[in-house]
Amino acid sequence: MRGQDLSIAKEFKEMGYGEALESDAAALEWLEKNKRKFGHFIDGKFTKPSNTFKTTNPANGKFLAEISKGNLSDIKLAVTSAVAAQKRWSSLNSHERAKYLYALARVIQKNSRLLAVLETLENGKSIRETRDIDIPLVVRHFYHHAGWAEILHEEFKDYEPVGVAGQIIPWNFPLLMLSWKIAPALAAGNSVILKPAETTSLTAIYFAKLCEMIGLPKGVVNIVTGDGETGEHLISQDKIGKIAFTGSTEVGKRIRKKTAGKGKKLTLELGGKSPFIIFDDADIDSAVEGLVDAIWLNQGEVCCAGSRLLVQESISEKVKRKIVARMKKLRVGNPLDKSVDMGAIINQSQLKKIGQMVSESEKEGAKVFQTNIKCDAKGCFYPPTLITDTEPSMEIVREEVFGPVLVFLTFRTPNEAVEIANNTQYGLAASIWTENINLALDMAPKIKAGVIWINSSNMFDAAVGFGGYRESGYGREGGKEGIFEYLKPKGHNSPKKVNRFKESRKVKTLDQTADSSIDQTRKFYIGGKQVRPDGGYSSKLIDKNGNFVTEVGLGNRKDIRDAVESANLSSSWSTTTSHNRSQVMYYLAENLSKRKAEFCAKLELFVEPKDAEIEVNLAIERLFYYAAWTDKLDGAVHQAPIRANTLAINEPLGVIGAISSESEPFLSFITILGLALSQGNRVIIIPSRANPLACLDFYQVIDTSDVPGGVVNIISGSPGELGKVLSEHSGVDAIWHFGSKKYFSEVESLSISNLKQTYVSDGESMDWSNTQSPVLKELLRRSVQVKNIWIWWEVLRYCLLAILIQN
Ligand code: NDP
Repeated sequence: MRGQDLSIAKEFKEMGYGEALESDAAALEWLEKNKRKFGHFIDGKFTKPSNTFKTTNPANGKFLAEISKGNLSDIKLAVTSAVAAQKRWSSLNSHERAKYLYALARVIQKNSRLLAVLETLENGKSIRETRDIDIPLVVRHFYHHAGWAEILHEEFKDYEPVGVAGQIIPWNFPLLMLSWKIAPALAAGNSVILKPAETTSLTAIYFAKLCEMIGLPKGVVNIVTGDGETGEHLISQDKIGKIAFTGSTEVGKRIRKKTAGKGKKLTLELGGKSPFIIFDDADIDSAVEGLVDAIWLNQGEVCCAGSRLLVQESISEKVKRKIVARMKKLRVGNPLDKSVDMGAIINQSQLKKIGQMVSESEKEGAKVFQTNIKCDAKGCFYPPTLITDTEPSMEIVREEVFGPVLVFLTFRTPNEAVEIANNTQYGLAASIWTENINLALDMAPKIKAGVIWINSSNMFDAAVGFGGYRESGYGREGGKEGIFEYLKPKGHNSPKKVNRFKESRKVKTLDQTADSSIDQTRKFYIGGKQVRPDGGYSSKLIDKNGNFVTEVGLGNRKDIRDAVESANLSSSWSTTTSHNRSQVMYYLAENLSKRKAEFCAKLELFVEPKDAEIEVNLAIERLFYYAAWTDKLDGAVHQAPIRANTLAINEPLGVIGAISSESEPFLSFITILGLALSQGNRVIIIPSRANPLACLDFYQVIDTSDVPGGVVNIISGSPGELGKVLSEHSGVDAIWHFGSKKYFSEVESLSISNLKQTYVSDGESMDWSNTQSPVLKELLRRSVQVKNIWIWWEVLRYCLLAILIQN
C-alpha cells in the first residue's frame, strides 16, 4: 500500500506535460470556405478581394489568409454608404436599434468558440484569454450598449448622433477593441467605418459576416481592411463627424494634427507606462498574482499594462523573490494550448523592438532576469522578463515596451510613490496594493491616470469608462461617459447669433510702443500680481466715439510662460474642497455686484448703456450659476458585474489656456472663468482684443475675493500669437478657443505637444447669455475628466466567508 502511494507520488512528480489543445478545425474550415481571401464589407456586402496582403499566425509563421488593402475609392464608397445608412439608422426608434445590438450580442455569443480560436490564430494570444476574457467582454459590450440604445432618448435628450464615425483599432485586442468602438457608436445612432489593424483583420471580417447574418441594415457597419495608409484616407474624409482611435501615442498625435480645424470629434486611447504600486502592508501573494495579470496578460501587449513596478523598500527583496518564483511557473507556448499562460508576440518587428529595448537597458546597467522558454522556433515568442537595478532616466523605465517586460523600482513613502508614479508623460492606469483603504483612497486621486485599480489590475467592463490623462489620450470608452463621445449637443452647428453687443466689434486698437508720458497701460494679472508686459509693447484702446481710453499691454511668449508657471504652482485650487471654491466664487459675484456701476461704465465706453448693464448683470448671475455647480457635477458609481464597485470621479483638467470671445466680451470672459474655476481648474485667459477693459480691471475684484494667486491669470494681446504659445506649451493641459475660426486648425495642431484636450467654438456666433445653450452645457461637462477607481470587494468576500464558516 505504502509502496503504491509512493509510486503514484513519484509518477505525479515525473509526469510529462501534455498539451490540451483547442481545435482550430472550425476556424480553418471557415477560412477555406472563403478560399482564404477576403474583401471589404461595404454597404452590407463584401467587395471582391483586391490589392491583397498576407496575414499569418505569429505562433508558427503559417499563412492564414489574404486581406484586401483599402484605397481611397474603397473609403469613399464606405463613406457614401455610411452617410446614407446613418440617416435611416438614426431615424429608427430606440427600441429598434436596441434589438439589433441585442441580436449582435446573441450571435457573437453563439459563435464565441470560433471567434476565440480565430483571434488566437491571428494574434498569438492564448486561447485561455480569448475564450475567457476577450470574447465574453465583447458580448458584454453589445448587451450593455443594447441597453443604452433602448434608453438613449430619455438619458441624452439634448444630444444627437455625431453622424458617421471613423474608427481605427490596434492588433492587441482586435475584437474587443472593435466592440468598444462599434457598440457605443451604434447605440448612439451613428453609422461606422472601422479599419482593423493590418495584422489582425480576421475577427473583424467574421464580425461583418455576423452583421449580415442578423440583417443589420446595410451601411450601418462598414469594415475596410488595410494599413496605415488606409487609416489616413479614413481620417481625411470630410463627411466623417468623429474619429475614434486606439493605438500608439505617435500615430494618435499624427491623427490629431491631420484632423485639426476640421470640426471632427476625436477620441484617442493611446499608450501608457502604468505604475503597479505595492505597499508594505499589502497581501503580497495577491499582489504578485495581480502582477501576473498586469504585465503578462496578453504577452504584455496591453496599453494599460502594469509595466512599472513600484515596491515599498522594506519588502522589495521579498517581493522580488516571489515574482521570480512565480515567473518560473509561467507557461509560454502554443497559444491554442489551454494551459498556456503566454502565447506569441504579434510579429517579428514587435519581437525585435522588445529585444532591442531590453538589451539597451542591460547596456545602461540594468539587470535582466528571464525564464527559459522552449517554443516553436518559427513563432514570435519572448520570455517573461524582470528588469531590476534601473534608473528613472532609462528608456526601459520611461517608454512603453508593449511586451512581457516588467521594470522594478522602489520607494520609501507614499508621497515618493506618487512622485515616481506621476513621473511620466503618460496617464492611462495605475494599480495600488495595500490593506489600508485610507491609504488606497488617499493615493487614488493623487495619481494622474484615467483608471485606478485598488488591489486589482486590468479590470474592464462595458459599464465603466476607460481612457487616459495626458499623453495617454482623451475621451472615454464604456459607461455613460463613453456614450457622450458619440453624441453632440443638439443645435451645435447652428447656434443663435447674438448681435446685442455688435458695437464692441467696431472698437479700434492701434499697436505701438508705449509713449513716455504718464503710463496708463493696463497691466497683466499673473500669479496674483499686476505685471507690466515683458516686451514693453502696448496698444491704444479707442472708445466708440473715437476717444483714447487707455493703453493695453501686448503680451508675449515670456508673459505666457510666467503665467503658466504661476498656474502650475497654484495646484491647491484643484484639491481644495468644492465648498471652498463655491465660497470664493460667490465672493467674486458679491464684489462684482458692489462695483456694478463701475463695470457698467467701463463697458459703456464701447456699447450702449442698457447693453452694458445687461452684460454686467448676466456676469454676476453667471458667477452665481457656476458657484452653484462647484459641488453638483457629480460622478457616478458604476455597476460592473463583478465583485467591485467603480467610483467615476470628475477631476479638473488642470491648467486651461483660454482665448475669450470678441462677442459679449465681459460676459464671455466671466463665463469661461466661472466654468473653469468651478471645477477646480486654473486659467490663463486672453480677453477680447477689441474690448478688454472690464476684463483687465476684473483683477481688482479677484484681488479682493480670496482667489489664490496664480489661479487666474489675465494677459491681453493678439489672440493668434498668444493662443499659439498657449497651445504649444507643455505646462497647459487644455485649450479652449472662442476666438476666430481661422485659429482653430493651428491651435488643435499645436496641442499635440503634450496632447492637450481642446475645445474650439466660434464665440461670435454663440449665445453667451444663455447658460442652457448646448455649447455651454457641453463645456461644463468638458471642464472635467473622469477617473474610474475600481474598488475590489474580495476582502469583503473573505470576511463573509469567515463569518459563514464560524457559524
Ligand atoms: P499603431 O498606432 O501604428 O497602429 C494602430 C492602428 O492605427 C492600426 O490600425 C494601424 O494600421 C493604424 N495606423 C497606423 N498609422 C496610421 C496613420 N498614419 N493614420 C491612420 N491610422 C494609422 O500601432 P502599431 O500597431 O504600429 O504598434 C506600434 C507601437 O504602438 C507598439 O509597439 C506599441 O508600443 C504601441 N501600441 C499601442 C497600443 C495601445 O493600445 N495603446 C495598441 C497597439 C500598439 P496598421 O495596423 O495597418 O499599421
